[in-house]
Amino acid sequence: DLSQAASKQNSLAISPENYQFEEFPEYKKLKAQQEQVASLGNGNPFFIPQETVVNDRTTIDGRELINFATYNYIGMCGDPVVTQAAQDATKLYGTSACASRLISGEKPIHRELEQKFADLIGVDDSIMMVGGHATNVTTIGHLLSKDDLVIYDAFSHNSIMQGCFLSGASLIAFPHNDNEALEEILSDRRHRYQRVLIVVEGVYSTDGDIADLPQVIKLKQQYKTLLMVDEAHSMGTIGKTGRGISEYYDINPRDVDLWMGTLSKSFASCGGYIAGSSALIEYLKYTAPGFVFSVGMSPPNTAAAIAAIDVLQNEPERAITLQARAKLFLDLAQEKGLNTGMSKDSPVIPIIVGDSLKSIQLSQNLFKRGINVPFMIYPSVPQNGARLRFFITCNHTVEQIHLTVDVLAEELNKL
Ligand code: PMP
Repeated sequence: DLSQAASKQNSLAISPENYQFEEFPEYKKLKAQQEQVASLGNGNPFFIPQETVVNDRTTIDGRELINFATYNYIGMCGDPVVTQAAQDATKLYGTSACASRLISGEKPIHRELEQKFADLIGVDDSIMMVGGHATNVTTIGHLLSKDDLVIYDAFSHNSIMQGCFLSGASLIAFPHNDNEALEEILSDRRHRYQRVLIVVEGVYSTDGDIADLPQVIKLKQQYKTLLMVDEAHSMGTIGKTGRGISEYYDINPRDVDLWMGTLSKSFASCGGYIAGSSALIEYLKYTAPGFVFSVGMSPPNTAAAIAAIDVLQNEPERAITLQARAKLFLDLAQEKGLNTGMSKDSPVIPIIVGDSLKSIQLSQNLFKRGINVPFMIYPSVPQNGARLRFFITCNHTVEQIHLTVDVLAEELNKL
């Protein structure tokens, strides 16, 4: 088992002689894991180059496969309108902002994108940073400090965790989506801290379930805390026109203090945003290290995201189709008795296999049959929670989904 190999390597003694990278126990652990994966006989499953725009299909080694391994949920990456916008912005401004926006990197399209996002979400303003991961790290790391408390869902993304560590705040993970446990922590601890931040995600990226946000909002109001929602996988995908979790539940967007999201999934770009009150955004723009001391978003990425918002607003049916395709996949998989975990109403559908090597094997067997789908193993998911993770897009056809679920059930049976 992969984790046993890992812990064996971890226990290697650290000595002053072993300071080179090749001798790092952590590196040896990685090599041991790679050897085990290679022992399956199908080569390295990581860093496989995809030779075209990745959508409902992808091309690998000249071979076209049905693809479930992209965050291109609503088909914006490769959309001609979006590509044209990126090309036009490149002609006008070049390929880089070449400086922090605070100093001389600001372009008119930066503000345009921020205002569009604020309007889309329904709050005062927003700020764009160069990466989704960096946005969480710098925002949480900067806003909270050692006298504060962050209470985060136990399934939170690595970027949220890194931000928490950087902040130096006290940290408590509450059991996934368990608002009773969250309330217990709040009633027990709230009074000890001046500022408390609760962090949840819209759609959870490993399990495809959705936070019970209305209930979390009640708690945050009762206990007077800040609330942050990471919409990496929910913006553009859920809600009747794709406006994310606030539309899904029909809640007032101003009841959430920090809306966070990324541009790398539904918006065909690269970057992250925080949206909220004017005071919050102004404060971040002048003080958040990952913004102030980093380059502005590149012009083509900025223009691509603006175009993607426009296309989504003109074609909300992309989100509606995505939701229908995801439901079809989930229904068919469940009819076949496959374990889809907690996934509901979202484009992320895990097929839980349990054993790590079996999951890798299943992914590789599907690959041979023309279906590209990534596996997830420990430590990304709990021990014995290894799985395949299907990302549905609005471009998947009904036929592709029927075929995939049939082949999946067949291959899983064979294992
Ligand atoms: N938050 C969540 C929940 C994510 O899943 C991801 C990326 N998978 C990020 C933040 C980081 O976004 P990006 O990849 O755009 O840096």
